[in-house]
Amino acid sequence: MIDSIVKIGTPMRDVLEAIGHEPAGIAFFNSEDDVLAGILTDGDVRRLFLKGIQLDDKVTAAHLGDFVSAREGEDIENLLKKINKLIRIVPILNDEGQLVDYFRYEHKTKFIPVAEPSLKGNELKYVTDAVLSTWISSRGEYINRFEAEFAEYCGVEYGVAVSNGTVAIQLALKAKEIGPGDEVIVPDFTFAATINSVIHCGATPVIVDVLKETWCMDPAAVAKAITPNTKAIIPVHIYGQACDMEAIMELASANDLFVLEDAAEAHGARYNGKRVGGLGHAATFSFFGNKIITCGEGGMVTTNDAALNDRMRVLRDHGMSKEKRYWHDHVGFNFRMTNLQAAIGCAQLEKIEDIRKWRSELEEAYKKVFSGYDIKFQSTAANTERAIWLISALMPSAEKRDSLIQHFRNHNVDLRPFFYPLSDMPIYQEYASHSEVASEISMVGVSLPTVEGMDMEEFKSILDSWK
Ligand SMILES: *Cc1c(COP(=O)(O)O)cnc(C)c1O
Repeated sequence: MIDSIVKIGTPMRDVLEAIGHEPAGIAFFNSEDDVLAGILTDGDVRRLFLKGIQLDDKVTAAHLGDFVSAREGEDIENLLKKINKLIRIVPILNDEGQLVDYFRYEHKTKFIPVAEPSLKGNELKYVTDAVLSTWISSRGEYINRFEAEFAEYCGVEYGVAVSNGTVAIQLALKAKEIGPGDEVIVPDFTFAATINSVIHCGATPVIVDVLKETWCMDPAAVAKAITPNTKAIIPVHIYGQACDMEAIMELASANDLFVLEDAAEAHGARYNGKRVGGLGHAATFSFFGNKIITCGEGGMVTTNDAALNDRMRVLRDHGMSKEKRYWHDHVGFNFRMTNLQAAIGCAQLEKIEDIRKWRSELEEAYKKVFSGYDIKFQSTAANTERAIWLISALMPSAEKRDSLIQHFRNHNVDLRPFFYPLSDMPIYQEYASHSEVASEISMVGVSLPTVEGMDMEEFKSILDSWK
């Protein structure tokens, strides 16, 4: 039973009332002979009001929107083909053209996530190809291709694909034989995977503060934290901003330390013209679903060090000898990536510059929408080119930040607070001293939905209703 069938010529006031009775927010207009002549959705109605229609005006055929219809008994597959981003409702007509029912499909839930992968390139094609080839496990041409092409993109010799960005860190540290008794310096402001990987190696993390301008590891704090036990530094290129690598590499060479960039959030970012991934002795990347490019889950270690590359390949694959099958020279892991993941990765890499471009444009669009608001967007350090990960900014206070996030959540838009400083969490406290800057940033930082094709007008209207 449809409650919103009206006749052409009905006054707008009564049409609104009819739409209010129908859960889909739509009115169906019958001609004099009860044949469906047109529809108006609540969006159409809004547009008519903007054009000046009055409540007492009668709705004529000229006011009605075009519609796509289906025949009674049409199968679901056909119905779904008629649905797209603009058409969400398909009237179903009998042989006389009379409305008998309608099909409604919400393409997506109204919920806007903080990030969404762009999968509109060759992803499906390559995955299908991998499936048809039967090479769906951790050998296959897409793995070799993804490793070679990603290494080339970063300007390094080697790429070792692994199952995620967390084990990438662990693999590199293990291959450098970093373990009990060794200290590894990590920034306080990062995702917990950075420090967890150090702990899983049996080494001792040493947490240092970050810089106010870049949110990245403070080289002066690193210098102070170095002891005779220090073996490695993990600078994290946080939210796509490259760390001050010159200062960090100088400290490393003066103290004979291994530098592992955590570039999980920074694919394509540059420092002094050089891409991240080739700035330290090795670097790790994540291809999790919310990262700049994705494999669903996945990771990579990049390096120019041939010996390190060899060791990581052995450790990734159970520590098994490359010459003698089932002979194990090391206590290894299974950290392998599958050919299916790599197939998606290859397709993503083909479009990485397009992806980075829409992300940059979206950041600019957010800056416009927020002009007039008290908010400070992430800046770009001198001599660097930022990769835009989650578009992020600082609010004037924790209360303002929390209220903004809550307001958008109430409108089904997922804004995110920043990471907590590691040093705030009891499980990491033994590795920390107080980090003033990390705490400050963390309390007021917010990440905005970094989703291709965001409806910025809608975002602005939600923002403007925030008090
Ligand atoms: C996402 C992320 C990781 C971990 O990557 P996964 O692929 O999710 O394991 C590590 N470090 C940082 C800074 C990250 O943002």
